[in-house]
Amino acid sequence: MTVAITLAYLLAAVLFILGLKQLSSPKGARNGNFTAAAGMVVALGATVPLLHFTSAGLIITGIGIAIGGLVGTVGARMVRMTAIPQMVALFNGVGGGAAALVAVAELLKFGVHPQFAVLFPSVFSIVIGSISFAGSAVAFAKLQELMTGTPITYPGQQIVNGVLAAAIVGLAIAILALASVPLTFLPLMVLALILGVAFVLPIGGADMPVVISVLNACTGLAVAASGFTLNNFALIVAGTLVGASGSLLTKLMSDAMGRSLGNVLFGAFGQAHTAATAAAGAQGRSVRSASAEDLGTLLAYSQRVIIVPGYGLAVAQAQHAARELADVLEKRGVDVEYAIHPVAGRMPGHMNVLLAEANVPYEQLKEMDQVNDDFKNADVALIVGANDVVNPAARNTPGSPIYGMPILNADQAKNIIFMKRSMRPGFAGIDNDLMFGPNTVMFFGDAKDSLTKLVSAVKAA
Ligand code: NDP
Repeated sequence: MTVAITLAYLLAAVLFILGLKQLSSPKGARNGNFTAAAGMVVALGATVPLLHFTSAGLIITGIGIAIGGLVGTVGARMVRMTAIPQMVALFNGVGGGAAALVAVAELLKFGVHPQFAVLFPSVFSIVIGSISFAGSAVAFAKLQELMTGTPITYPGQQIVNGVLAAAIVGLAIAILALASVPLTFLPLMVLALILGVAFVLPIGGADMPVVISVLNACTGLAVAASGFTLNNFALIVAGTLVGASGSLLTKLMSDAMGRSLGNVLFGAFGQAHTAATAAAGAQGRSVRSASAEDLGTLLAYSQRVIIVPGYGLAVAQAQHAARELADVLEKRGVDVEYAIHPVAGRMPGHMNVLLAEANVPYEQLKEMDQVNDDFKNADVALIVGANDVVNPAARNTPGSPIYGMPILNADQAKNIIFMKRSMRPGFAGIDNDLMFGPNTVMFFGDAKDSLTKLVSAVKAA
């Protein structure tokens, strides 16, 4: 039996790793999810024989699985694309909280003077799991606009947070040294919950995806620690994979935003640039705009068009309309491709997922490095609800909050059609000089409506 269970866990681990590998390309991502889910089913199935349930325990577990499964399925099916980050935050926080509770249950079971091999991972799991739970709850509340999404700061905040962290480390060391659990972990848990809240409060709403990724990595570590406490190989492997991939994702996201992780976590991004926006907006410069008919003619007689999708495409759910426009252009012999910035939208792969949903061929989706040299040969860069990812301030304006962030070279195209609803800035909260450029034409309106108008105009041209 034990050998069979170990082999099943091994199979589950292989499926998790294969799933992650498939997730690394848009083509394999869907199957990657199924592969990893199959691994989870195998791991769960292999765990059942290890449980020694009373009939009451069995009923309660069954009800728990049914409720959890229902909430997870309905939640994931109903969530809007733009709300995925907060859903991930919620599920991730629950995972961290569960890991902490498992550790608590184990400590209560062992009573006073548990073995160090149980005590250490349990204490670790309680601290990290609680931070992850509370931090994710605040991230969820910010993204769901249940509270303000801007950074909440006060003088000496980092010192207070540092003192909290030091108190947690001190208390954890004392608990490990004295080993006189059971209830000494309670103040530790409370402090960790407070730190989770305090850690996320000063972070700006749209930096949340990066923070969620950090918290995701933390949950992975807490789960892996629970695996050591329970001596469960599947939990250790799954938790470590989540911890490692969450850490890598965090690094990739920070790099793509041109910022250090320290700046994301401790920079209170979202405050400084409010003033910058006000100042820039006050300059009162004017922009050019054009009718759908004129732009349709421009597009129809182009040779090469590069579509730059951004967060606004997701908000407007304009992916099908974008595909339709690309189709009518291609029918006229225009070469169309999509330039995908790694942090366009509000989560990694956001644009890939949306465009894949609209059946845009994968070959037309070009990563930033692949496409950036093509812009200078493009007749039109069609910016659909993107802003920061094409903002030349990232290249030209030292001191700008996005200075150093790699951007798409949309400004090098012969013509730029900038589609958005207003002159409002994007996530970074700063003006975009590209809107005022000599080759730029603004086309104001909801992205879906505007694209639909362009489709008709191209057909009529
Ligand atoms: P931005 O947030 O810079 O800009 C989006 C633009 O879309 C806005 O200027 C808005 O202007 C416009 N818009 C919104 N709704 C609509 C609509 N219905 N129709 C048309 N336009 C609309 O988006 P980008 O994708 O360019 O950049 C992403 C930003 O998010 C970057 O700063 C990145 O660092 C950040 N970020 C990304 C993460 C990721 O993983 N992808 C994670 C964390 C942060 P208007 O209101 O005038 O319409």
